[in-house]
Amino acid sequence: MPAQRLDGKLLATTMRSEIAARAADRARLGKSRPCLVAVLVGEDPASQTYVRNKHKACQDSGLASAVHTLPAATTQAELLDLVARLNADPAVHGILVQLPLPKQIDDGAVIRAVSPAKDVDCFHPENVGLLAAGFPRFYPCTPHGVLQLLSRNGVAVAGKEVVVVGRSNIVGKPLALMLMQKPNAANPAAGDATVTVAHTRTPDLAAVCRRADVLIAAVGRAGVITPEMVKPGAAVVDVGTNSVNGKLVGDVHSDVANVAGWLSPVPGGVGPMTITMLLYNTLAAAEQIDG
Ligand code: NAP
Repeated sequence: MPAQRLDGKLLATTMRSEIAARAADRARLGKSRPCLVAVLVGEDPASQTYVRNKHKACQDSGLASAVHTLPAATTQAELLDLVARLNADPAVHGILVQLPLPKQIDDGAVIRAVSPAKDVDCFHPENVGLLAAGFPRFYPCTPHGVLQLLSRNGVAVAGKEVVVVGRSNIVGKPLALMLMQKPNAANPAAGDATVTVAHTRTPDLAAVCRRADVLIAAVGRAGVITPEMVKPGAAVVDVGTNSVNGKLVGDVHSDVANVAGWLSPVPGGVGPMTITMLLYNTLAAAEQIDG
């Protein structure tokens, strides 16, 4: 039987309606409208698309949104000056500086300059530390999207063997942290799973992956996860986005659908969930800052 679909597009629609309803409730109570400001430096086409999609998603869910577009030659001082103004603006709740930045700008300096209270990407070291300590101010968007995709489709991770392939700061590492932590009121999305993190130095990746009840691929290599690497009936989440002959594909080979119990598609899986969790964090930031 082919794997059941972990449909991120469908779940994103549901969760964006929930976010829109909570934003409308705030408006009824005279509270502030959650506002996300995106900053785009330069003209990278992929970054332009990401920012456009985030802006539209905000508008569709009743959140305020603005985009600051700066030329590719912008200096670090000019960008830091804009970030400082956004930090100080009480109408702004979330700040997103689209990465990567042009080479004259140090990504780390900009990440550290965003006020942690408005850091809806959850990249600031203070927020990463809070997440690691089990008291998250925000959950990082892609890992949180993966966990929501599993839990809201009834795929439990608690007590299960979960293998995450990839250890980046944006996906694999925070996802592993969230999966292995004990849930509590301050950390409701924590997974209570037994977690293995695999990477390029992992010997016999196939054997490690076959242990997984839940296998998450965050690699960036088309088709790197093949059917013989998957335990029959396992849930497989494909975070990868790779362009092959102009087509968007994931890290998971299409034949895995014949072995897995659950599988997220690319496109239409984790991607729409990532943007949804950004809206979720913008709403959370407004609630934390303004009540
Ligand atoms: P990254 O920073 O390049 O990290 C990739 C990770 O995969 C690294 O830890 C690397 O190991 C590991 N890896 C690479 N080749 C491997 C192999 N053959 N076997 C085992 N491990 C291997 O990438 P990322 O930012 O985490 O993104 C991963 C993928 O997710 C990309 O395709 C990206 O576009 C996609 N993504 C999608 C979304 C979404 O919303 N859908 C969001 C973010 C990222 P080493 O550490 O040893 O080098």
